[in-house]
Amino acid sequence: MSLIVQKYGGSSVADAEKMKNVARRAIAAMGEGNQVVVVVSAMGDTTDDLIDLAHQISSQPDDREMDVLLSTGEIVSSTLLAMAIKSFGQKAISLSGGQAGIQTDGIYSQAHIRAISPARVKSELAEGNIVVVAGFQGVTESMDVTTLGRGGSDTTAVALAVSLGADMCHIYTDVEGVFTADPRIVPEARKILEIDYEEMVELATYGARVMHPRAVEIGQLYKMPILVACSFNNRPGTVIRGGIPMEMRNKARGIAHDLNVAKVTVLAVPDKPGIAAMVFEPLAAANVSVDTIVQNSSVDGKTTDLTFTVSRNDLAKAMSVVEPISKSIGGKGCVSDAKLGKVSIVGTGMQNTPGYAARMFKALYDSGINIELITTSEIRITCIVNETRVADAVRSLHKAFQLDQA
Ligand code: ADP
Ligand code: ASP
Ligand code: MG
Repeated sequence: MSLIVQKYGGSSVADAEKMKNVARRAIAAMGEGNQVVVVVSAMGDTTDDLIDLAHQISSQPDDREMDVLLSTGEIVSSTLLAMAIKSFGQKAISLSGGQAGIQTDGIYSQAHIRAISPARVKSELAEGNIVVVAGFQGVTESMDVTTLGRGGSDTTAVALAVSLGADMCHIYTDVEGVFTADPRIVPEARKILEIDYEEMVELATYGARVMHPRAVEIGQLYKMPILVACSFNNRPGTVIRGGIPMEMRNKARGIAHDLNVAKVTVLAVPDKPGIAAMVFEPLAAANVSVDTIVQNSSVDGKTTDLTFTVSRNDLAKAMSVVEPISKSIGGKGCVSDAKLGKVSIVGTGMQNTPGYAARMFKALYDSGINIELITTSEIRITCIVNETRVADAVRSLHKAFQLDQA
């Protein structure tokens, strides 16, 4: 008998009818001869609503309490889904992340899974249950509840699939798979039928929120194939797996965008060894993840500007870390801009092939879009632009790289 893990996102369990639809799908998967584990997200916008509520109580809610609060959204879903499955006559049981054996480190709101002890899930499956696991959460060694970062139920699902030795992890969402760009921004975006882990990690990391990047990384590490498909129909989705040939050398694979970008510039810092370390070590210690970094070369050999980007929610923390440092090293203070976004083209076909960057910059220029910063990896080029131009940038790049054509 094979084992599959299915994960349903917030929009797929947004109300009672949708919950029943998911129950039917899980039962159907069991009817096909599988053991079934279902991972669920919180219903609809529950997580956002809980965050809002916490901020009405306190401007800086306590990290530990916040994680317990947010974990309840997924618990509500898991219990309701187990009830729905039982009401259709099939045995089911809900488990919290902790009960499902998901152990994490203690970094609240961004916890990483350290280990999974799947014994309870396995014994419940052996009893003939569909096991419904609350996504996005785990517990520390000392049994404190943690959450895995926004969108983290995908990570719960893939990690559970690996630890249970499942054949595949199915991620069901409100679109039919991974598209060449966000179909809500580019209506002519095409569904990608198969994509390699490497490209999917890059797309997800740079904003294609259809998959959580860490979920894809776990899939890649443990060679767990992932199907991304729609929870509202049975059309074929996208398979994320290894070993997919680079059949489209002349094309990028997809465009990702992300509106959650803020930029910090530390002005006129001394141009001498050790300054970058003085700025970035305390940022790392404060758990601020820095993305793009640009240091201008100084004209006079004395001072230079240091610019970096962070997610918008980390901006206040980043400024509070770098402002005193700027003062202590005799800089001219710090400025920030939170109204930025990034747009990236991704594809293994770009490796060692010249011309992609030039084509990207020309397409943005033709649309009158100013580029603030640029970063690249071997298979990605990212431009930081004003947030108001991100959607235009995605559309113009989609066209310039002929992603609308088969
Ligand atoms: P879920 O609640 O099921 O986890 P998400 O909202 O996290 O769903 O992810 C699905 C959304 O991801 C889609 O509605 C779509 O707007 C967005 N998205 C962004 N980039 C892409 C892409 N390249 N392909 C498909 N969907 C994408
Ligand atoms: N409910 C969480 C969120 O909204 C986790 C998830 O949906 O994957 O981010
Ligand atoms: Mg998601």
